[in-house]
Amino acid sequence: MLQTALHFSHTLLKEIIQPGDLVIDATMGNGFDTLFLAELVGKTGKVYSFDIQEQALLTTRKKLVESGLDTRVKLFLQGHETIGEILNLDVPVKAAIFNLGYLPKSDKSIITLPNTTKRALDEILLRLTPRGRLLIVAYYGHDGGMDELSMVRNYCESLPQEQFNVLNYQFINQKNQPPILFCIERKKKSE
Ligand code: SAM
Repeated sequence: MLQTALHFSHTLLKEIIQPGDLVIDATMGNGFDTLFLAELVGKTGKVYSFDIQEQALLTTRKKLVESGLDTRVKLFLQGHETIGEILNLDVPVKAAIFNLGYLPKSDKSIITLPNTTKRALDEILLRLTPRGRLLIVAYYGHDGGMDELSMVRNYCESLPQEQFNVLNYQFINQKNQPPILFCIERKKKSE
């Protein structure tokens, strides 16, 4: 059976992340992606995870401690748009994931927003290694969701093909606005 956008985002991450890598979960939420990334980077790697809601940090920290993976992860109670203040420009980022929208079963008015998402995408692409991948899972059924989806689509479509491969994965016959996946991969200089 075809993978959901969320499942396929993990497949695309798993293909490239290796022990020792530094990766980013730009929207920590309940910590499912952070946990998944922490397993992939191994003991020598690091996951930097961001969210603006304290509840997200508490839930994620609990999951990590229970799995014995907490030492591999740095949790930040601040927006992903501040990534540039935390990581120097020469720090290589192998992969990153965004799950756009609101935290399920939580305050639906706290959502990711086009301007801050764009700033975070810019900061991550500056640091993305060759063959590194940036995944965006866009939920757009909520108020404001279509604006953000359109920003992400325009952003992805305008990336130069000499430098990036950009993939769009979506089911086009499903009801209830299933999430849409975008994957940006930096090419190697020789490609
Ligand atoms: N990946 C998460 C998981 O595994 O549970 C789900 C993420 S949820 C769809 C989106 C999250 O983005 C929410 O928890 C929300 O608080 C967070 N968020 C909103 N604006 C943000 C920002 N500027 N920086 C970082 N996180 C933000």
